[in-house]
Amino acid sequence: MTDRGRFLKTPRHRSALVLAAITSSIVASACSATAGSAATPAPAISARPHATSIGATPRASARRPAAARQKTPAAGTPRAVAEPLAGKIVGVDPGHNGRNYTDPAYINHLIWNGREWETCNTTGTETDSGYTEARFNFRVALFLRADLRRDGARVVMTRHNDHGVGPCVNRRAQIINRAHPDVAIDIHADGGPASGRGFAVLEPVSDGPNDKVIRASERFGLDVRSAILAGTSMPESSYDGVHGIEPRDNLAGLNLTRVPEVLIECGNMRNATDARLLTSARFQRRIASALEAAIIEFLRNR
Ligand code: ZN
Repeated sequence: MTDRGRFLKTPRHRSALVLAAITSSIVASACSATAGSAATPAPAISARPHATSIGATPRASARRPAAARQKTPAAGTPRAVAEPLAGKIVGVDPGHNGRNYTDPAYINHLIWNGREWETCNTTGTETDSGYTEARFNFRVALFLRADLRRDGARVVMTRHNDHGVGPCVNRRAQIINRAHPDVAIDIHADGGPASGRGFAVLEPVSDGPNDKVIRASERFGLDVRSAILAGTSMPESSYDGVHGIEPRDNLAGLNLTRVPEVLIECGNMRNATDARLLTSARFQRRIASALEAAIIEFLRNR
């Protein structure tokens, strides 16, 4: 989510509150621990050691959308069509991690995000029924990874399961930068006001290290917005950014990136309509397919 300056608020995370109190000038990650306002605290994320781990790894072949099926090569089809991402490297950062809540001291330690101090990570948000953002992010990332590999890309992930802690957001940026991908995407879902709907694309703001990729990231962001509008039923955010686009200068992943990169808040987990979509495997596949289409479009024009 995109609210700023909020931290872990559940009783289990009192130490985080203390830390937040003494470091009020620092910023939170893209999605904070809870979605409620100070006056209406969100439900605590319960300790469910297995609830946040996902089931079977999604398979790219399962119920592939029509657009993707059309890319399946016929005999004699040139490789460029059969594998439109052959030779490309794509960074995929599924936000948060399924057990971040178990180690608040680690998750709340401060890192330098290129512009200011920020917490290492947060737990992320969740739906009112307790479906965690970390789980959503990871499932979409797996669907996307399968699509990318099918299309010939090499995929670099910043985490490999949904039952770990971290890594910190600056470490995620380092993982991506060191792999020298052609493009990278950070996958999140927001915890906005219950009445608000829709997705938002967060884009980097020039800060020195990322200067060379600002324009490319903006172009990629437009490709992402177009692909999501074309490929899913999720509307542009009604409360975040302008027409689904928001420049952000306080996120490590965007501040530190050396490659074209945007962060997608795929919807608002605190909105009942969005939550129904975000928790469905069908929609998760569609979002992944839309991101895949955006990546192909972006790299096709480079
Ligand atoms: Zn998030």
